[in-house]
Amino acid sequence: MKKIVFIVLSLVLFTACKNEKKEAKAEETQEKEEVKVTLQFFNSGDITVNKLEVFSEGDLYKGESKVFVDPTYIITHPKGKLIWDTGLPEAIGAEPVTPGDGTFTLSRKDSLKNQLQGLNLTYNDFDYIGISHSHFDHTGTANYFKNATWLVQENEYDFITSEEQKNGLGAAVAALTNVKKLNGDYDVFGDGTVIIKSTPGHTIGHQSLYLDLGLERPILLTGDLYHFDENRENRVAPGFNYDIPQTKVSMNDFEAFAKEKNAEVIIQHSPKDFERLKTILKS
Ligand SMILES: [Zn+2]
Repeated sequence: MKKIVFIVLSLVLFTACKNEKKEAKAEETQEKEEVKVTLQFFNSGDITVNKLEVFSEGDLYKGESKVFVDPTYIITHPKGKLIWDTGLPEAIGAEPVTPGDGTFTLSRKDSLKNQLQGLNLTYNDFDYIGISHSHFDHTGTANYFKNATWLVQENEYDFITSEEQKNGLGAAVAALTNVKKLNGDYDVFGDGTVIIKSTPGHTIGHQSLYLDLGLERPILLTGDLYHFDENRENRVAPGFNYDIPQTKVSMNDFEAFAKEKNAEVIIQHSPKDFERLKTILKS
């Protein structure tokens, strides 16, 4: 009799234990499912580079021209919303203009307000603003996000807010007063899904963005570490970069990270990658 009681008890305990494990596993899966990160993006400017050689260290690409897109990305995480790069200034307008020495022809077909409205969003819906770097084609509408926290490398911040830049490039970010200064990589939501990668060289505090959207492969947005495929294939840096040797180090680090994570690399200015990202997000 004792033996039978023991067997029955053991069975009850075993079943209870199994159920507990099952429940724990279900909870774990649920937790993972809850961290749903989504990405939306649209084009915030068209750029024709009339003198493509500026994107090399010498006369490479001389006589060539290329069309760039200039996207804005919106990342939605259960803990908040991040806008990444803000395109060309709206003042440029819908008609193409070719300022200065004629290197670029620029146009911006729609206002950011309209573009956000299309996604049922307003400027105030954003908790964070990240800018790959402080050139005019990435900071164009940054000042609208004055309520968001600006995630910026400390050295980029010091440069862009310096006396020298105050009325130049710095004017485009003057309204951003909630600042989180970074020194290297930064895990935005603390769970490894959205990571700012420090990739200095194009500017002093240039950064790229890693996104784990739960798709087959994570996504790596280059910022302007590369401007087009040939730059990446041949590791060519623009002659106007802040630090060319440092850019090459960043390229190597970036590629090693991309390989480690098996990430889809998206060159932000590439029209081809703009279309490719649409396809990736549909998958
Ligand atoms: Zn750019």
